[in-house]
Amino acid sequence: MTTSPCDAGGPYESAVVGAGPAGLAAAVTAAELGLRVALLDAGERPGGQFYRQPAAALGAGRPEALHHGWSAYADLERRLRALREAGRIRYFPAHHVWTVVPEGAGGDGGMPGWRLHALAGTRVEEERPVLIHARAVLLATGAYERHLPFPGWTLPGVIGAGAAQAMLKSGLVLPGRRVVVAGSGPLLLAVAGSLTAAGAKVPVVAEASCYAAYARRWPTLLRVPGKLAEAAVHASALLRRGVRVLNRHAVIAAHGAERVEAVTLARLDRGWRPVPGSDRRVRCDAVAVGHGLVPQLELAMELGCATRPTPDGGVALRVDGGQRTSVAGVWAAGETGGIGGVELALVEGELAGRSIASDLHGTPDGPRRDIARAAVRRARLRAFADLMAAAHRPGPGWTGWLTDATAVCRCEEVPVGLIKEAVGGLGAHDTRTVKLLTRAGMGWCQGRMCGPAVACLTGSGLAAEPGAHRRPLSCPVPLGHLAEPPDPP
Ligand SMILES: Cc1cc2nc3c(=O)[nH]c(=O)nc-3n(C[C@H](O)[C@H](O)[C@H](O)COP(=O)(O)OP(=O)(O)OC[C@H]3O[C@@H](n4cnc5c(N)ncnc54)[C@H](O)[C@@H]3O)c2cc1C
Repeated sequence: MTTSPCDAGGPYESAVVGAGPAGLAAAVTAAELGLRVALLDAGERPGGQFYRQPAAALGAGRPEALHHGWSAYADLERRLRALREAGRIRYFPAHHVWTVVPEGAGGDGGMPGWRLHALAGTRVEEERPVLIHARAVLLATGAYERHLPFPGWTLPGVIGAGAAQAMLKSGLVLPGRRVVVAGSGPLLLAVAGSLTAAGAKVPVVAEASCYAAYARRWPTLLRVPGKLAEAAVHASALLRRGVRVLNRHAVIAAHGAERVEAVTLARLDRGWRPVPGSDRRVRCDAVAVGHGLVPQLELAMELGCATRPTPDGGVALRVDGGQRTSVAGVWAAGETGGIGGVELALVEGELAGRSIASDLHGTPDGPRRDIARAAVRRARLRAFADLMAAAHRPGPGWTGWLTDATAVCRCEEVPVGLIKEAVGGLGAHDTRTVKLLTRAGMGWCQGRMCGPAVACLTGSGLAAEPGAHRRPLSCPVPLGHLAEPPDPP
């Protein structure tokens, strides 16, 4: 078997990594402005996390039933189909880009051009290497969930809040019959809404922060009426179904023998410290828990794109008004620039598509009025995203619900006590050193699950050091593919 990457055509003028709302909007916009675009996605179907659809084999008659805003997706999908038929977009589903490297000095404008190395295929034994050449790259790789551990969180039945949503949207299955939803951030309301709509009982939604924090910034809220309407829809649906939303509450332990049978719920003070004596048990057979999302930055960090700190204690890519990153020839849109939701991803994708077309073809990036309108919309949605991030930023007191035996790194089974010893006893000051001393973050997920928690326990904050997002390969790659001779220039 050859390990040389199959050259998938090209060079393309633009390669878009990620076919979620941001990548789809960028790809169709750029192609409609005349570019030849390659659209790659690790998933088998376009839509990303938000427009995730039931697997084809399930034969779902109404894939839109668990979604809102489906018409925006239907429009993108229709445009994608037309552009593929016209030969302007080549769509590569099930292609995981594992690295992007500069190629030559480029033609004009100092833009080097890029090679994208991807693994194609849905099953490990069928994976094959693919190489794509493009002049411009757009990173629209989305986000993953942020997890804060608690005793019992490794029991079967405890899953990520976003994962519960993904299970429901793609597999049409419930994680349990009686599901406690907990953590922080508006995703919890969407998840509770979907679970109850699909027939689960949600005895409580425990929000560790407080929604009152939004009320102090009315002007920002009033500029995004769509968000207010969405919140009202979620709140009234939950009210109708008898779901209680408790602010400043957290699941501080899960209990069960073979799988989760109950959780301990506690009230939190403003710093997220559990209030003594406020504990109570809630019976359940599943827990959907998540503390917001973290931008997925591996490819961008390897390329050296500059980042900015975000109000939730994380980091995101720094982009300009045209969604350009600090690296010439690399654009970013959607959650990679900071967690902001689907509407922001769509508008940023459109702006990125326009500015790529403008920079590459030197053509106007579209009617001025459309661009001005999109820029205003982006500014309003970004302001709301910052408000949301600040409102749900985890407080330092969350570590108060851990015990020394609580597993932090699930891949390598590293407990809290070992990390404390590395920090307090051996003098580790950063997550890299903690990793070397304890193996926390050294396993299969490479710290994507435990990174924020390890950083907090190390004292470096939720985002960890900027280098914590550095992972030379964005997914596991067989050695044979790494050993292949480089392509001739
Ligand atoms: C698990 C989860 C569940 C969510 N559920 C909801 C919800 O119910 N309601 C809601 O309002 N918001 C939800 N969100 C947030 C919402 O999905 C985002 O706001 C929105 O989808 C952002 O769009 P995006 O295009 O930036 O990223 P995404 O939609 O995440 O799209 C990113 C795409 O990039 C692809 N990708 C990533 N890395 C690579 C790579 N190296 N190579 C190739 N492809 C790659 C992924 O397969 C994915 O299709 C969820 C997020 C997550 C992580």
